[in-house]
Amino acid sequence: MNHKLLEIVACPMCQGRLEYDKGNERLICHFDHVAYAIEQGIPVLLAERAEPIFSQEEKE
Ligand SMILES: [Zn+2]
Repeated sequence: MNHKLLEIVACPMCQGRLEYDKGNERLICHFDHVAYAIEQGIPVLLAERAEPIFSQEEKE
């Protein structure tokens, strides 16, 4: 995952910053509680592809 890319990506729903989840290769929006997949190094930032996550999955 390119860190420069991570600085410019924003959640398509709230436009907030996303956190890179290294263990699961995905980007997390803590505001919307969703995760976006990263496919072949490219974040899939589509609201319809967002996967709901639960607070216990998040790292404190
Ligand atoms: Zn969001």
